[in-house]
Amino acid sequence: MVATTDVDQQLGALLGETTTEIDVPRKNRVFCNRNMRMDSIEVIGFDMDYTLALYHQDRLERLSIELTLGKLIDKHGYPEQIRDIHYDPRWAIRGVMVDRQLGNVFKLDRHSFVGRCYHGFRELTHDERKAAYRNEKINLSNDRFEWIDTLFGLPEAVMYTTLVDWADRQTGTPAYDKLFGDIRTAIDEAHRDDTLKSVIKADLPSYIVKDPLLGEALHKFRSSGKKLFLLTNSLYDYTAVVMSYLLDGERKAYPSWRNYFDIVIVGGAKPAFFNELRPFVQIDPQTYQPISTNGEIKHLSRDKIYQGGNVVAFEQMTGIKGEQVLYIGDHIYGDILRLRKQHMWRTAMVLQELEREISVSDRLEAQIQDLELLDRRHRNLESEIDYQSLRLKKIHRLLEEPTTNASLRVRLEEERKMMRASIDALRDRANLMDAEVDSLEARIDRAYNSHWGSCLREGNENSRFGEQVNDYADLYTSRVSNFGPYSPLRYFRAPRRPMPHEI
Ligand code: IMP
Ligand code: MG
Repeated sequence: MVATTDVDQQLGALLGETTTEIDVPRKNRVFCNRNMRMDSIEVIGFDMDYTLALYHQDRLERLSIELTLGKLIDKHGYPEQIRDIHYDPRWAIRGVMVDRQLGNVFKLDRHSFVGRCYHGFRELTHDERKAAYRNEKINLSNDRFEWIDTLFGLPEAVMYTTLVDWADRQTGTPAYDKLFGDIRTAIDEAHRDDTLKSVIKADLPSYIVKDPLLGEALHKFRSSGKKLFLLTNSLYDYTAVVMSYLLDGERKAYPSWRNYFDIVIVGGAKPAFFNELRPFVQIDPQTYQPISTNGEIKHLSRDKIYQGGNVVAFEQMTGIKGEQVLYIGDHIYGDILRLRKQHMWRTAMVLQELEREISVSDRLEAQIQDLELLDRRHRNLESEIDYQSLRLKKIHRLLEEPTTNASLRVRLEEERKMMRASIDALRDRANLMDAEVDSLEARIDRAYNSHWGSCLREGNENSRFGEQVNDYADLYTSRVSNFGPYSPLRYFRAPRRPMPHEI
C-alpha cells in the first residue's frame, strides 16, 4: 500500500473529494428523469419549506392538527369531543385525493383511475369504487376534489378521514363538503395568522431537521461558480428565523445564511410567481415593511430582501434564463409543474419520503423479487389456460360438425374430457397463485404505509403522484445535501426506459 504523503493530502484538499455515484448509498442519491449537465447550470434557486428546511413530519402534523381542532371548536362550532379522537398520521400520504362530495379519500394510478379508496376508516369494495368512480370519467380539476400534494397538507387528509368516520356516527346527514371546507379554512388560518409559525419559531429543534451537510452542499455549488438564490412563499420574519437556524455559523466563510445567497425573495406566492406579473417589492429586514424605492425595481442586489415578484422580471434583471437555471423545490404544483409547462428552467424535486421508501424497498428486496417471479409465472399460467381453452373450443366445433366421422368423434370426446380436467387443474393453480400474489403484494404495500402503500406506486405501476414526479421533475432526491457528494459539473443521465414492446 502506498502511504499518503502531505503533498497528496494537500492535493486532495485542493481538488476536493470526488465521489462516484456507486459510493453514495441509494437513499442519498440524486435520481435523474431527464438528462442534465450541471456544468451548464449557472444559477440554482431554492425553495425553503420542505426543501432547505425539512420538518419533523410527525411533530408538525401533531401541531397542525391540534391548532386546527382548536379553530374548528372555537370558530366553527364543532363539539369539544373531536379533540379527544385519535388522529393517526398513517391515514395520509402525499398524492391522495379528497372527494368532498362523498366523504372519500382515494389514491390514483398514473391513468388517473381510482385505486384504493376509504370512506372514513372503511375501505370501499371493488363494486362500490366502480359505482362511484368508474362509470364516467371524473374531472379531477372540479372543486369537488382536493389533491393533497404537499407534506403541509397531510394533516388535512388525516383529519378528514377521522372526522368523516366521526360524522357518520352522529345524528343527522353528514355534511362532507362543509367538513372539508371547515378543515381547509382552519388550517389555512393557522398558517397565515402565525399560530403555527409562532410555536415553530419558539422551538425550532423540535420541528425542523437541521442537516449538518447542507452548508457544505451549498458551498460546493458556490465554489464551482454558480449563483444561488432563495425563492420562498414564506414571509421574511419566518424565513430569517428558519434560515438562521439551518445555516448561521455552519461554515467559517459564511457567518450568516445570507452569505450563501445572491438573491433572496420571500413571499413569492408561487405558482403566481411563475404565471403572473406581480411586482418585486424591497422590504426592510428589521421591520418587514416595504421600502419605498421610487418606482419599479431595476436590479436585484445581494444585500437586499425582496418580496413578491415574477419570473419575467427576474430573468430580465438577472439576464439569466431558460436552461441555465435549476430550481429545487418540494411542491409539484407550486414549484415544479408550472416551470416545466411554461418555462425552460430545469427542476429538481425534494421528496422527503424517498429515504423511507428506499429503505423499505431495500429491506423487502427478496419479497419484491418473489412477487415479480410469481407474477410472471401467473401470467404464463394464464397464457397456457388461454391456449388450452382455444384448443377445447376447436374440439367443440369439430364435434358439432355433422361430417366428423364416428371413430374421430370418440377420440375427440376423450380429448375433450382430458382437456377439461387439465384446464380445471390449471385454473385452480392460477387462483391459488392469484391469492398468493395478492397477499404478498398487500404485505409489501403495508410496509410502506398500512393503508395506502407507497406514495409513488399504485398496483403494479406509478401512482399519479409518482408519474408527476417522473414527468415534471428533471432530478429528484430526498434532501438538498444529497447533491454534496456529486461533482458540480456532473452530467446526470436518465436511465434508458424501454417501452413495453422493447422489454
Ligand atoms: P415554501 O415551500 O418555502 O415556498 O413555503 C411554503 C409556505 O406556505 C410556508 O410558509 C407555509 O406555512 C405556507 N403554507 C402551506 N400551506 C398553507 C396553507 O394552506 N395556507 C397558507 N399558507 C400555507
Ligand atoms: Mg416548499
